[in-house]
Amino acid sequence: MSAAYDNALDVIAEVEPAVAGAIRGELADQRASLKLIASENYASPAVLLTMGTWLSDKYAEGTIGHRFYAGCQNIDTVERLAADHATALFGAQHAYVQPHSGIDANLVAFWGILAQRVEAPALAAAGARHVNDLSEDDWERLRRAFGEQRALGMSLDAGGHLTHGFRPNISGKMFHQRSYGTDPNTGLLDYAALRDMAREFRPLVLIAGYSAYPRRINFAIMREIADEVGATLMVDMAHFAGLVAGKVFTGEHDPIPYAHVTTTTTHKSLRGPRGGMVLCQREFADSIDRGCPMVLGGPLGHVMAAKAVALAEARRPAFADYAQAVADNAIALADGLLRRGARLVTGGTDNHLVLLDVTPYGLTGRQAESALLDAGIVTNRNSIPRDPNGAWYTSGVRIGTPALTTRGFGPAEFDRVAELIVGVLSATSPGAGADGRPSPARFELPENVADKTRAAAAELLTAHPLYPGLDLG
Ligand SMILES: *Cc1c(COP(=O)(O)O)cnc(C)c1O
Repeated sequence: MSAAYDNALDVIAEVEPAVAGAIRGELADQRASLKLIASENYASPAVLLTMGTWLSDKYAEGTIGHRFYAGCQNIDTVERLAADHATALFGAQHAYVQPHSGIDANLVAFWGILAQRVEAPALAAAGARHVNDLSEDDWERLRRAFGEQRALGMSLDAGGHLTHGFRPNISGKMFHQRSYGTDPNTGLLDYAALRDMAREFRPLVLIAGYSAYPRRINFAIMREIADEVGATLMVDMAHFAGLVAGKVFTGEHDPIPYAHVTTTTTHKSLRGPRGGMVLCQREFADSIDRGCPMVLGGPLGHVMAAKAVALAEARRPAFADYAQAVADNAIALADGLLRRGARLVTGGTDNHLVLLDVTPYGLTGRQAESALLDAGIVTNRNSIPRDPNGAWYTSGVRIGTPALTTRGFGPAEFDRVAELIVGVLSATSPGAGADGRPSPARFELPENVADKTRAAAAELLTAHPLYPGLDLG
């Protein structure tokens, strides 16, 4: 494998040495830091190598066996493989593996739902089979109807995602949106309040899923609420797809049997290439398959092939062990933090992440994130419910276990990570800006604490090498 990469990098360096340098630099950086970003992972060499191929050079708009271009037989093969692995792995009725990212998968899902629930009835009412057959008046009426639809999703500061109907994202411009939050006392999803809100708001789409909520969701209740108000249930499992694939989330916590449409990324806990995917129930399959060219550019053959490889990996028993370890490690991390006096949103975790409230240390999320980074610990700042510091500086740090679990970290290592994190945050104080006034971005961390932490992190990382056997010359 080392020779494969060395040779490839030589080929790249002949054209643009700076890019070869950045590729080498990225490996060195990934190897040298405690990566606790909850949305990141390390894909296998097989997944990575699959992407560096001529499958990238083929245009294949359309769907399997029904392309707008000739000569797509190999793209058909890899797309079919990826879709088959996905339906088998998740027990889904249909899989659409073309989306280039999680955001794109959500856009495909939204327009698939709109096609199914708004466009199809309008076509039927007008006796038309295709939008091109509508009169100008009927078309204008349909265009307005698209803009009148409602979506209900989890609020951002409770852990929801921008693409769940928030204004900076196109979803917020498409839909009238409201959001549900968490119980102020427990920090847990408040299903009763959500049900009341759904009854009153009557959304077309009920969205469940999160980027920064440390707990499981009961999708049986979500579906019940959706059915009661006539909504389509869309679950965005971008963050926790690996836990679904690895059967850590089963029964009511597995979204697939309950959601009409489920979207995901493939590069987070699922450990595949950067990309997205939509899984859906049969009735939505045709609408979802219209993703390209409705909202997506031409499919990425090399990435769909890498999805097939990653999904094949995820179907092996070792992946279920990995997923269970991700969850076990999150509990070890949470316990380690709590035992050392930290405050966690919801008091713990039952997925792959914890949300640490850093206000007890007198810090903003931004200060905590920067201090930890200084000490070799990579996390990201994140809002906490009803955040006093707003969405930019925030009051929390999100810490996830998928990446370091891939490196082989276990509960003992995560307990040590908890110790290092609390050590750094306890030693950090807010700093002042150039004008001498307190700044929500500046911090002071004694040099010796940063040094000691970096050394301890290096020891953990050396004991659990990333891509063992890969040695670049
Ligand atoms: C990460 C994430 C996305 C976006 O994924 P991209 O691949 O970055 O577009 C969408 N939804 C949720 C819930 C996410 O966590």
